[in-house]
Formats: sequence, C-alpha cells, structure tokens
Amino acid sequence: MPDAGPRPRLLLVGAGHAHLHLIDRAAELAAHYEVTLVAPRWFDYSGTASAVATGDLPTEAGGVDVAALAAQHGVRHVVGRLVDLDPRARTARADDGSELTFDVVSLNVGSVVDPALLPPQRPASVVPTKPLTGLEALRATAGRRVSVVGGGASGLELAAHAAAAGARVTLLAEEVGGDLPAGAVRRLARCLRARGVALRPGVAVVAVGAEVTILADASEVPHDLAILATGLVAPPELARWGLGDERGVPVTATLAHPEHPHVLAAGDCAHFLPSPLPRVGVHGVRQGPVLLAGLLARARGEQAPAYRPQRRWLAVLDLGDGRGLAVRGRWWWEGRAALWLKRRIDRRWLARYS
Ligand SMILES: Cc1cc2nc3c(=O)[nH]c(=O)nc-3n(C[C@H](O)[C@H](O)[C@H](O)COP(=O)(O)OP(=O)(O)OC[C@H]3O[C@@H](n4cnc5c(N)ncnc54)[C@H](O)[C@@H]3O)c2cc1C
Repeated sequence: MPDAGPRPRLLLVGAGHAHLHLIDRAAELAAHYEVTLVAPRWFDYSGTASAVATGDLPTEAGGVDVAALAAQHGVRHVVGRLVDLDPRARTARADDGSELTFDVVSLNVGSVVDPALLPPQRPASVVPTKPLTGLEALRATAGRRVSVVGGGASGLELAAHAAAAGARVTLLAEEVGGDLPAGAVRRLARCLRARGVALRPGVAVVAVGAEVTILADASEVPHDLAILATGLVAPPELARWGLGDERGVPVTATLAHPEHPHVLAAGDCAHFLPSPLPRVGVHGVRQGPVLLAGLLARARGEQAPAYRPQRRWLAVLDLGDGRGLAVRGRWWWEGRAALWLKRRIDRRWLARYS
C-alpha cells in the first residue's frame, strides 16, 4: 500500500550486484520511495570476465543491460556515472550534468585496482584488471609476451587464460595463491607451468612501464602487455565525497554509514566495520536482499536487519581450456566439473537480470 504524501527520494549509485537486486525488486521500493538510479548502461560481470576477454565466451555472456532492466521495472535511470556527492546537503551530480537531490543514498560502485603501480600516463600496453572491459587487450596476445603482476585469484585466472590462448606469460608476484589452500596452489602452479607460464613468486615489482616491468633488484622483465592484478581498493571519489578511504564507505552491520545514517553502501565499495570482508562478488550478491529489507524497514520505521557474512563460500577460478578450480574454505577441486559448475551458477545469476 503506497504511503500517503510525497515519498522520500532514494538515489541508487552504481548497478553492482546488490543494486541489480534492488532494481529487480523496484516495485516493492516504489511503494515507499521515489527511486532514481545513476549507473552506466552496462554491468560487466567478473565471473565471466577472463573468458570473455580471451574470446572463450561471447561478449554478451558477460553483461547485464542495466538500462533495459531499469526500464522494465519502471526505475528512473540516469545513464552515466556520479561525479559529485555531498552527503550533508544531500545533493549529487551525474556526468551528464544532471543535478540530483535525495533523502537516502545507496552506493554500490565496486572497486578499482590499487593505483600504486599504475603509471600516471598509462600506456595502452599496461592494463589494470578493472574496469573489466580493459581486459579485451588480452584477445590478440597469442605468441606475445604478457606479464601478469599479482598472484591473487584474478592474476592466476588471467595468467592461466592468457597462456591457454597462446600468450607467453610471466607471472610476477610477491606471493602466489594468497588465501588459497596450499594443495590448490601447488596444483595451479603445475597447471600454469605446463602451459609455459614463467612463475616468478617472491618478487617485488617497483614500476610497470610501457615495455618493461622493473623489479626491486633493478632487473627488468620485458612485455608487450602487462596486466595489473595487484588488488582492489575502493574508488577514490568516495574519499573526495567525505565517505571513507581506500577501504571503502564505513558501514555498520545494517550497511548504513555510522555518522550519516541516510548513506548506505554494499559490495566492494563498502568497508564492513564488524569484520573486514574480501572483495568478492558473493558479498555484494548476499547484501542485496539485506539492503532491500533495510530500506523497507526504514520506510516503516522498523529496525533494519544485519548482514551476517558467511565464513566460507564457493569460489571457482576459470583456468581456461575448459578447466576450473573450485575452492570452499580448505576444500578444493580442479578439473572440468569445476568449470561446468561455475558456468551453471553464472548463467543462472545473469539470467535473473537479462
Ligand atoms: C578479473 C577479475 C575476476 C574476478 N572474478 C570473480 C569471481 O569469479 N567471483 C567473485 O566473487 N569475484 C570475482 N572478482 C571480484 C569481483 O569483481 C568484485 O568483488 C565484484 O565485482 C564486486 O561487486 P560490486 O557489486 O561491489 O561492484 P561491481 O560489480 O564492480 O559493480 C559496480 C558498478 O558500479 C558502476 N560504477 C562505478 N562507479 C560509478 C559511479 N561513480 N557512478 C555510477 N556507477 C558507477 C560500475 O560501472 C559497475 O557497473 C573478480 C575480479 C576481477 C578483477
């Protein structure tokens, strides 16, 4: 039943995993809020990013048409990016010049690659893993030298994919495998070496240039393309807007900023104060329903529910060549079945919003 009188204005910034859920359930929100979304037309899905980048999957397997979804659910959509936000004045501006006002704002704007190694005038041959569309540079790398800097899940996935597609890959990392179980890291290393990847664990990279990567011992590793997979941090504009730092917008268990209760955040751009969360899609996905329930509770004057992160979740790395590595806690499995499972989960999730 719609509330009497004008509804509070809810501004959704970014169409990440959590906000896609809100857009899909906009009818429930519209009973209480006047909803406006500011987001680019397309959402790029990281689960299929490496396969789309190397051409294993078609481009349309990796995106959601946000404009179509918003239109289908009657959400006013300003296509583009938010460039300014004042949490105190409750005003914002999009990159098309639209001036917006709000009573409640929710941020789901994802993350960027840690800029520490990004050269200020980034040459075309140095590509950070985000935005994901930049990874298209991997498409024509057969026979070429590709350096992947960073040995976390996305660096390993991209190195494996590029090698499977015929690139001559060097993986440069202080540590390979990070939080993955030791057995899984050994299996990954075997798989990468079998594909000709030069694994260089224990190296510190100090600079990445157009043609070479420079290591702490001043040696140089030449490349035609360098992929920076050096970890994700919150987008720098959040700090400019007075909403946190590189860890993200601080939020309590109810996903609200402790000092600006009308500012909410979810996914990679949120700094979950009860416990630090890794930047993986599962939290954005699972925070969607909590965010929705919180907004509805707020409109009814009720207590918002808390987000309770799982301790373990399933992650599957797409290793290219039809193989995957599934990991849940200390359990892991490498093989074709793992990738089959990943594709099935990804297809189902994307189908909800297509
Ligand atoms: C190569 C790679 C592979 C990965 N694979 C996996 C995986 O298989 N599984 C997994 O769980 N995690 C994976 N991750 C991590 C995953 O990408 C993130 O954790 C996840 O995307 C975060 O989701 P999110 O909803 O917070 O943000 P995002 O998915 O990044 O969505 C944020 C959206 O906000 C938009 N946006 C940004 N700034 C603005 C602005 N100013 N105004 C308006 N809109 C804006 C962006 O365009 C984007 O569409 C991978 C990461 C990389 C780099």
